[in-house]
Amino acid sequence: MSTQDGPSKIALVTGANKGIGYEISRALLRQGMTVVLGCRDQSRAQAAVEQLAEAGIAASVELDVTRRVTIAAAAQRIEETYGRLDVLINNAGISVEPRTTPSATDLDRVKDVYETNVFGVIAVTQAMLPLLRRSSGGRIVNLSSSLGSLTLASTADSPWSRFGLLGYNTSKTALNGITVHFANELRASGIKVNAACPGYVATDLNGHCGYRSPAEGARIAVQLATLPADGSTGGLFDESGPVPW
Ligand code: NAP
Repeated sequence: MSTQDGPSKIALVTGANKGIGYEISRALLRQGMTVVLGCRDQSRAQAAVEQLAEAGIAASVELDVTRRVTIAAAAQRIEETYGRLDVLINNAGISVEPRTTPSATDLDRVKDVYETNVFGVIAVTQAMLPLLRRSSGGRIVNLSSSLGSLTLASTADSPWSRFGLLGYNTSKTALNGITVHFANELRASGIKVNAACPGYVATDLNGHCGYRSPAEGARIAVQLATLPADGSTGGLFDESGPVPW
């Protein structure tokens, strides 16, 4: 995938104060974008903005993807400050359930995961779309996972078929569907919507068990955020190319 130049573009990254979102923010800053870090904790956000100052112009906005009032306020603040949005990275995500079988999974934990990983993405995307429509080349990237791939999960004896996180895995399956449906709606507008698989990345989300660094995990999301006008939309990609749904 090739990339386009990104000077003066405005990007919003949700859950940007640490992990993959922080490294996506750093990479977009290094491409000359102005990056707004959407974070639910403002002291953590401010610390991230200060650490990122060496890479470029970062700002923060209060944004809890499970709280509609903060989403609306964030959209209003971005509109007042920048007048538009060029890139939305739906990165904020959680994994809060113990690994177990589907039949033993606590439904309340599944609902918690869906609030952030599924409903939060829909809410933020809907709120930011009016601003993205003012961009000459809007890009939306949803942080998904190969754990959400039904093809991989239904391949007998594959590692994905044995990974027991009913809420998390199916939240990413739902996110893949959301990606396709928004991409279809927005195809004619030029706004591209894609899902990114960062690989297994060492972050707080998985107790730092992953074997990739957050900077490596950020790469595919950055590629999809900077796709040229003839780039793909409605796909699921890792750094090697398309990932099966
Ligand atoms: P992480 O280090 O735990 O970071 C998650 C970020 O999301 C944090 O900034 C967190 O903020 C934020 N967040 C959580 N709930 C939020 C909410 N309600 N509103 C706003 N922000 C919220 O995790 P990560 O590994 O970087 O994960 C980033 C994304 O990549 C997630 O969508 C995850 O599912 C996906 N992903 C990760 C891996 C992996 O191997 N790590 C693999 C595939 C996909 P706080 O600091 O306030 O908690």
